[in-house]
Order: sequence, then structure tokens, then C-alpha cells
Amino acid sequence: MEHVTNELLDRLDRSPSALAEASDDWGHTVHATPLGVFTPSSVAELAVLVQDAQTAGIAIAARGRGHSTLGQAQVASGIVIDMQALSRVLEVDADSIWVEAGATWRHVLEASLAAGLTPPIFTDYIDLTVGGTLSVGGLGSQTFRAGLQTDNVLELEVITGDGQIMTCSPTAQRDLFDAVRAGLGQCGIITKARLALIPAQPMTRYVRSLHADLETFLTDLFTLAADGRFDGVEGFVVHNSPEGVAQATGNAFPDTALPAGEGTWLYMIEGAKSYTPENAPDTTSLLAGLSVLPSAVNVLDLPYAAYISRLDLVEAALRQIGLWQLPHPWIDVFVPRNAAVDFIRRELAQITPDDVAGPMLIYPYRRSAITTPNVPLPESEEIVLFALLRTALPPTPERVAQLWSANYDIYARCLAAGGTGYAIDAVPLTAQDWQKHFGARWPALVEAKQRYDPAHILAPGQKVF
Ligand code: FAD
Repeated sequence: MEHVTNELLDRLDRSPSALAEASDDWGHTVHATPLGVFTPSSVAELAVLVQDAQTAGIAIAARGRGHSTLGQAQVASGIVIDMQALSRVLEVDADSIWVEAGATWRHVLEASLAAGLTPPIFTDYIDLTVGGTLSVGGLGSQTFRAGLQTDNVLELEVITGDGQIMTCSPTAQRDLFDAVRAGLGQCGIITKARLALIPAQPMTRYVRSLHADLETFLTDLFTLAADGRFDGVEGFVVHNSPEGVAQATGNAFPDTALPAGEGTWLYMIEGAKSYTPENAPDTTSLLAGLSVLPSAVNVLDLPYAAYISRLDLVEAALRQIGLWQLPHPWIDVFVPRNAAVDFIRRELAQITPDDVAGPMLIYPYRRSAITTPNVPLPESEEIVLFALLRTALPPTPERVAQLWSANYDIYARCLAAGGTGYAIDAVPLTAQDWQKHFGARWPALVEAKQRYDPAHILAPGQKVF
């Protein structure tokens, strides 16, 4: 054991810079120092490392881009795998792309667009790895019709916790396929993924509108989710002040008279419709029947790639003012439609813009579009994703602890309202909470863990087992 451990250590990067990077993430608050970082040159080499780690009883965390917020890709005294070393695009055919799991969604976008194709669903932010989002779900503006990224996977290559390389799909090793999709890295390291592709349209009409009332705004969102006039639909909470609107919308509504005396919050809908130049959509039809504030509409025509990478500008701006580098105690929950107005109203009544200092999301989803077994959803066809993508201000440990605790309370209130959580967040869950989170799915996950990671060495930072 000692010998294996020493030999293992020699394969790791143990430099201070590697350890510092591997013991940090986008939350910038949890810091677990590993023994070292392994940079695989091939899947076969990674499989040998996993076998040796299992023999030595050393835990492993695959790390994509480390965009977790609560140490999920970290491992104290274990080995962090730098998955970005395995990031090649291997093949693009008429309706799929086969990539290594450390590739980002930006790599996938570029390679598929070169063939006139696109995945049906992107996360809002595309500098996340394929393996990282397939381990949690992967949601975005197209989820209301295309489901999660985990719903659009055709085949996976996985290294299980005992170091076996396996492929799985809806028709082969189905239990492993279901265990690893949104499986929080518990049953295997995803090394390759075959992702579904559909024809891409070159342009996108990106329509943003402001709304004054939560109830009619939600009705509008679900009208759009049901009639499919847009390919992408998202909603946002915006502080009702000239600075709040300018900040949350990228100054999209400079000339709009904001309603006085309507309360603290306004709401924004972002609709996206892709098209070919000879087939441009009619904006009036896109907005027909919606309760938009007078003159509060902003229309942009963008190349499709610019729409999909629309957060590049936001990232650049946040980096410039130093907010990107601060702690991010995020929370995302799914609320059943019939409880959404009361739930969101109550939550918004308890916070100020400074409690969030980041985007506040209200996305309309349909349960029937999402089929990944490991993503628990409310018992309701219409589901609202409600998220506070917080930046901790001031960025002190005390403030972060306060916001974690506030997140836990929101999560508990959401469960009481028949909702569920999205497992990417800074909501400190206990083992018991995780069991409740997975609900009816829990026994199958326990069985898969036993079968595919019998020594429990994978992804301990998730604190699921
Ligand atoms: P990491 O943080 O490195 O890893 C996440 C977890 O997955 C860890 O447990 C890790 O061990 C495991 N893991 C990583 N790679 C693998 C692999 N190949 N095989 C098995 N397990 C693995 N999510 C959305 O759904 N939609 C969004 O629009 C969205 N936008 C975001 C924007 C920003 C700025 C940030 C910071 C996060 C966003 N997220 C979004 C959340 C994001 O999807 C998750 O945090 C995701 O896990 C991060 O991907 P990553 O590659 O950085 O993974």
C-alpha cells in the first residue's frame, strides 16, 4: 500500500500552483487540498490511475473547469483529475458529435457549427466542460422544449470507480448510463460523450421585454413555453430602478419610463428565435398577446453563435469590476407552477438587490421535456426554475456563511411548496438531505454506487454518500 502510494504520488503534479487551483472553485470559499493533480494523456492511462487509487484507498475528484460553488470537484488528501487534458473533438457526423469529456460546450459549438449543426440545448454559459454539466444536468434557454443536456446524450464512455472503461447508452449498460447522467460523479468518470445534433440556423432574433407584474409575467412565460414561437425563453427579476434595470439588462431599455409605485421588482423576458436570412421572424408576432410595459422592448439580430455565447460580454464586464473573482453562494430550485407566484413573491419580499448582487432567474420548464432519472422535479407539468446567482458582498467568510444558511432556508421552503433543488449549488446538504433530494431514485443510486464504485473513491466533495 505504502509502495503504491509513493509510486502514485510520483505521477501527480504537487506544485503549489496546481494544489492551489485544485483546492479552489467558482464558489471561492471551500478549499480542500488534494495530494496532487493528475493530468491524463489518455483514457487508458486514467483508467490505470483509477485502479491504483482504488487499491491504495485514495479518493478521486474529476475536475472540469471547477465551476462548482461548494467544493464539489475537490478532494482533501486525494487526487484531482484535470479533465481538461482530455478535450478533443473526435468526430462529427450527420446528427451527433463524439467528444472527450473535458471539452467545453464552446468547443462543441464551434465544431458542430462548422458542419452546420448544433446541440439542441446549451447551458447559458458555455465555458463549462461536457463532463461537468453531464454530471449535473445542464439547463438553459432551450430546456423548455429540448430538456437538459443529459436528455440529449446518445452514448457515454465511462471509467468506473474500479478502473474499468465501459461504454453505455439507452440500449447498452442502461443502468450505468442512468447512474452517471446527472449522477454527480458518484458512479464513474465520464471520458467521452456522443451528443445529439440538429440543423443550425445562422441567425437569431433576440427579443427582450420588460414586465411589471409577476403573475402576468409567469403566464406570459408559460404561454411562450407552450406555443413554441421562440426557440429559447428565459425570465429574470430586475430591480425597479434606473440603475437596476441598466445593470440587469445591459442597458437594453434606456428610454423606458419605469412604473412608479409598483414595488421593488420588475421582470424581463428574453426570447430567442433562430432563422435563415430569407426567413426572418416578425417581432410583432413574437410579442403578440404578452403583457409588455410600453416601449420596453429591445430587439437584436445576432449570429446564432453570438446568441449562444451571449454571456461572454457579461463575464468580461464582471471580471473588469472584480465581481467574477468573489465568492458565489448560488441557489437554484424548481418550483411547481401552482405554487410559484406565492413562493417567488415571498422570497423576493425578503431580499434586497444587495443580497443577490447577481442575476435572478425565473425560467419556465415543462416536466415532460426532462427525462433524466437523477434530476428530481416537482409533480407538475409546468415548472419554474427560480435562482439567485449571488455574489457575496462583502466577500467575507461570515457573509458567505449567512448566505449559505439563507440558501438552505430557501431550499427547505421550496421542498415544503412541493419543489426540488438543482444539484449544482452552495446549499450545504446533509447525507439525509441528499437521500430526500433523490427520493424514489435513491435506492437505484445506492445500488449503482455499490456496483460501480464499491470502494467509494469517486467525487467525495459532493457529500452524497
Ligand atoms: P466541475 O465544477 O469541475 O465539476 C462538477 C462536478 O462534476 C464535480 O463533482 C466533479 O467531480 C464532477 N465532474 C466533473 N467532470 C466530470 C467527468 N468528466 N465525469 C464525472 N464527473 C465529473 N449550469 C447549468 O445547468 N446551466 C447554466 O447555464 C450554468 N451556467 C453557469 C455559469 C457559471 C458562470 C457557472 C460558474 C456555473 C454555471 N452552471 C450552469 C453550473 C455548472 O453546470 C456546474 O457547476 C457544472 O458542474 C460545472 O462544470 P465544470 O466543468 O466546471 O465542472
